[in-house]
Amino acid sequence: MQYSTAAFEKEYTYEGNDLGATWSPEETVFKVWAPTAEWMQILLYPTGDPKNREVLQTLPMEKGEQGVWTARASGDLNGIYYTCHARVERETVEVCDPYAKAVGINGHRAMVIDLASTNPVGWEQDRDPNGGKSITQAVICELHLRDLSMDPQSGMEHKGKYLALTEKGTHTPGGKSTGLDYFCDLGITHLQLLPVYDYGSVDEATPDREQYNWGYDPVNYNVPEGSYATDPYRGEVRIREFKEMIKAIHDRGISVVMDVVYNHVYHRDSFCFNRLVPGYFSRINERDEYSNGSGCGNDTASERSMVRKYIVDSVKYWADEYHIDGFRFDLAGLLDVQTIRQTMDAVHKNHPNVLFYGEGWHMGTTLTRQNVPLCNQGNAQLVPGFAFFNDTLRDGLRGSVFAADAPGYVSGNGEQTGAVADCFRGGAFWCPHPTQTINYVSCHDNLTLFDKLTASSPGAYREQLIARNKLAAAVVMLSQGVPFFQAGEEFLRTKRDARGMVDNSYASPDSVNRIQWGLLDQPEHAQVRDYYRGLIALRKSSPDWQMNEASQVERSIFPIEGLGDRVLGFWIRGREEWCVVLNPTNRAVMLELPRGNWEVVVDERAAGTAPLGVFTQTAQAAPISAMVLRKQ
Ligand code: CA
Repeated sequence: MQYSTAAFEKEYTYEGNDLGATWSPEETVFKVWAPTAEWMQILLYPTGDPKNREVLQTLPMEKGEQGVWTARASGDLNGIYYTCHARVERETVEVCDPYAKAVGINGHRAMVIDLASTNPVGWEQDRDPNGGKSITQAVICELHLRDLSMDPQSGMEHKGKYLALTEKGTHTPGGKSTGLDYFCDLGITHLQLLPVYDYGSVDEATPDREQYNWGYDPVNYNVPEGSYATDPYRGEVRIREFKEMIKAIHDRGISVVMDVVYNHVYHRDSFCFNRLVPGYFSRINERDEYSNGSGCGNDTASERSMVRKYIVDSVKYWADEYHIDGFRFDLAGLLDVQTIRQTMDAVHKNHPNVLFYGEGWHMGTTLTRQNVPLCNQGNAQLVPGFAFFNDTLRDGLRGSVFAADAPGYVSGNGEQTGAVADCFRGGAFWCPHPTQTINYVSCHDNLTLFDKLTASSPGAYREQLIARNKLAAAVVMLSQGVPFFQAGEEFLRTKRDARGMVDNSYASPDSVNRIQWGLLDQPEHAQVRDYYRGLIALRKSSPDWQMNEASQVERSIFPIEGLGDRVLGFWIRGREEWCVVLNPTNRAVMLELPRGNWEVVVDERAAGTAPLGVFTQTAQAAPISAMVLRKQ
């Protein structure tokens, strides 16, 4: 294929930073990369709704260097919608601008925008509230925007909207905080939002019909999703409300991570980039077959220069324009190492503390070139500073995601003891440093933690399941690395419909997915939440839980031998001295302590920084529990 030749790359790699529509009060300049087009025009429209066919003006485009077409229009075009109209490979196409910064309903037409006019008051002063910290100081909670507010007991007004995350003082019928107040109180540092760029699986024009999707189906990469805005027709509204959301979260001390899905697009054939430069964005072989490592029908050809540039530009744009503090790359293992490194470099130039992490699974994909290393766990050494979701710890603690009934370490699976011990010290076999592991036992995928524990422990009492849940949480929160959890895990979230537990709720109704805030009014759920809150506070209280280098771990964390089958213990000698015992068994575990008084800060009932009691000489860890002692 011609795109893959060195000659094509050389002739048609454009390095300018002005693709898309660049607005000023005097004129707007349109630039579109389409090297194989015969002719191109910009069509200007009064509305973003394709049902309205009235064209205001047709602007012919001129072809320049590196395959970039340019058109200019004088006057103030802020709020004018437009499309790219082109003749490509004997076909006439009309599509949205791949570099669109604003769009109308359902993302069919782009809009010219004066971005400064969308800034909320105080936006110029808005900063990452956790800037300057290391990734190991982060505590990340993953949230779907709609799950946040759809529960009738959420107490929120802007149900399913960006603005729900700007509401203050929201609470359950029993008076327990919900929403942003709740996350603040919980102590997290980062909120990771499931896709909030413009995706395709929800019809923005029918907001009154219940629709739900996680949003892993990108349409316009550089524009917020419209269904979360109060008015998806007017291109500026979603942008303004998105920024208001970011500012409200930042104002409460929490940073924002965005889930980005560059590895595939919603529809490979109708994706605007692939229409303008047919097939360029996707991995397609000589027989015209699309590579499908993503399982979504196409894989992005990130190794091509103008796709790589597109990804770098897009991520940088979200960091610059929307003040995004971290990026979670969906199926990063399909993207090439060079693209990830260039993206990190471009963003870190102006925002040195932005977090980068993602799913580094090893996946089959058909590259358009040979010898292109991919951003997977096995190549962690090639992407320093990029962290990977730790499935070794996840499956070790809770059991395999591929068999609902497979138990993990906390449910009695002794084979996982070694893996859990390695991960506690921040070093799964593929992970060179604690800064490169995202430690977790639940995310949007698969069964929730509590459902998984239930499914893998037939006959267990509810009290046992809760104890296992708390033990798993203690391991995640106190392991070296970066703790991560799905919102609601901390109060026993389940996802169930009439048939039972749902392990893939990407398009399930709100009744399955919503966070059931009312549960917090029940002591059993509130107590588990308190336990998580205490673990988070403990983690944040000392650098001993936040080591960055493997060598530091080697010097500071030592296993305690002889505690018995499946029981793990560690001495931590850092800024303070700690003793940690992880006991998944049904019997109490005794151990001898070095001289001195040892304060209990975590036991089977509670967790935090304040002493719950003191041990000298010997200590006892209760059945199915984590115990943490701090030397006085
Ligand atoms: Ca959309």
